Amino acid sequence: MIVQKYGGTSVGSTERIRAVAERILKTHRAGNQVVAVVSAMSGVTNRLVKMAGEVSPDHEPTGREMDVLLATGEQTTIALAAMAINQMGGSAISLTGEQAGIVTDAEHTRARISNIDPSEVRRLLDDGHIVILAGFQGKTRAGRITTLGRGGSDLTAIAMAAALKADLCQIFTDVDGVYTCDPRVVPDAHKIDEIAYDEMLEMASSGTKVMQSRSVEFAKKFGVRFEVRNSMNDNPGTIVTEEHPNMEAVVVRGVSIEREQAKVTIDNVPDTPGIAASIFQAISDAGIIIDMIVQNMSKTGKTAISFTLHRSDQKKAEDTLRPIVEKLGDPVFMETTDGIGKLSVVGIGMRSHSGVAAHMFTALAKDGINIQMISTSEIKTAVTIDESQLEEAAKVVHSAFNL
Ligand code: ASP
Ligand code: MG
Repeated sequence: MIVQKYGGTSVGSTERIRAVAERILKTHRAGNQVVAVVSAMSGVTNRLVKMAGEVSPDHEPTGREMDVLLATGEQTTIALAAMAINQMGGSAISLTGEQAGIVTDAEHTRARISNIDPSEVRRLLDDGHIVILAGFQGKTRAGRITTLGRGGSDLTAIAMAAALKADLCQIFTDVDGVYTCDPRVVPDAHKIDEIAYDEMLEMASSGTKVMQSRSVEFAKKFGVRFEVRNSMNDNPGTIVTEEHPNMEAVVVRGVSIEREQAKVTIDNVPDTPGIAASIFQAISDAGIIIDMIVQNMSKTGKTAISFTLHRSDQKKAEDTLRPIVEKLGDPVFMETTDGIGKLSVVGIGMRSHSGVAAHMFTALAKDGINIQMISTSEIKTAVTIDESQLEEAAKVVHSAFNL
């Protein structure tokens, strides 16, 4: 039993839907039971979001209506894909999230799956049908339509694979798999054959976005091994799996970059309890997502707190913090900088190998690249640098670790 997922680009036109239908049919004719989860055709979800803004410019539409709207994108694709398969002589049945037994909580536009009853899907498969399942959607116990957050079709596929105890889960996308770095930046980058869940999550959080992070977390929790591969060719993809001892032999699995970062520094802050709390509470209340936080040790009773965030949130962060800084009074001041990039190396091998940071910093130093901030986790070392040097830095670090 195979669960496949086809993303928006893979079903981006009626020709592409026919190509996908052919692939699904081929998989079925090879003797497999097949559930194919499909996304909305590329651009459709964005267009729906835009239209909602156009009819309701002054009030944010209710989550209930947003979900009724957004779920239509996937519903279009399931019907078209099923029709294409039937036209080719196969037997496909389309199911909405609700029809497939996907029950969620009531957090509209970012609902969590609370239960899946796969009995209807199983019955159809046992009757010899191919099931085409709408990604990204479910319903609440009270019967409301919900969606699972942007990119949520990945989650539908992983969760359905877990519920069905499928033998294989394949995520089809428009690249061959997960790469050691973005090949548009580092031409030497190559596809990774096998990657651990935690590495995939760290790569995603540092900019290498192949899949929705929540889906990878879900796969980790339920031990769903899956493959990310290309819907336009037959190349083997990247297997994402539980870690095993052999994986630690490779110290660095990949290099990730994140552009358009900004830095906020609040300087001369009194080194007393409660200051950091008030700053970050305000940031959190404003719904701003931050990344690295650095606070210097104070020798003088004053300290500096810096953090990074996406450039698009820089103005909001300034407006949020200005009153707090003013209240703290002279000589506390705030400084913000944009044009910052983040470079991370990721690998579970770091747990058992030393010297990764030294090796990375030396490679950057040799190339005259200045490091601004540093942060680490058990399996990641990350630095911020001038954004204009980001691509150069990625190349240098990628080759320093012989990737
Ligand atoms: N169509 C939804 C989105 O664009 C879900 C998905 O593609 O996974 O976010
Ligand atoms: Mg998508």
